[in-house]
Amino acid sequence: MWHFLSLIVGVVLGSFLNVVIYRLPRKDLSIVKPAYSICPSCGKRILWYDNIPILSYILLRGKCRNCKAKISLRYPFVELINGLCYLINSYATSNPLEFLALCMIISCSLVIAFIDLEFMLIPDVTLFLIALGSFILWLVRGLDLYNLIGVGLVTGLLMLLGFLYKGGLGGGDVILMAGLSLSLGIVSSFYTLVFASMSAIVYALIKNKGKLAMKERIPFGTFLAPAGYFTLMIQIYLKM
Ligand SMILES: [Zn+2]
Repeated sequence: MWHFLSLIVGVVLGSFLNVVIYRLPRKDLSIVKPAYSICPSCGKRILWYDNIPILSYILLRGKCRNCKAKISLRYPFVELINGLCYLINSYATSNPLEFLALCMIISCSLVIAFIDLEFMLIPDVTLFLIALGSFILWLVRGLDLYNLIGVGLVTGLLMLLGFLYKGGLGGGDVILMAGLSLSLGIVSSFYTLVFASMSAIVYALIKNKGKLAMKERIPFGTFLAPAGYFTLMIQIYLKM
């Protein structure tokens, strides 16, 4: 029952994350106003029965009921992934605080992934919440001093890299990784950076059809935040 509830809460909150992803980077929009959803194409209010997570997308065949504009696949994707990750989190721990922290980290990771991909920026509020989630994990797991040293090492290393390769690493990426490294520790932080870099390279290769343009800016947060969550899960399930 507890697992099923986690899945449902994750899917419903995923629907809210979609609102955040769309409205947060657009300065003329507010997260809370209007409280109802509107179609980005025709501006018409979306009624509750067309706004049921995942299900409505399938029933409407991915099109707005009013203007027939295509609804981004991002909407059901974020709802599904957030729900599934909450489910995985519920199996990962029986500690409610740890569960909450893991959910905060994956939800913020999804928001960061899509906003950074589109706007090349990482909102401060998501950085703060990920750092908070990571801090809670660090507390619950017994305040490992090595992890604290790891934060210093990782931050120093990334700042150096950002200085050497200007434009390669943004300040947001460094803060994101600093926050994550508190719960990850030194070794897992290294794995996170490897996973993120590998997926970023694959993304760049696909986008540029096989060529790697060194000058191109890559939204690194898009890969870094989910890689952090992924490594945390490996840590838990492989007992690293
Ligand atoms: Zn519409």
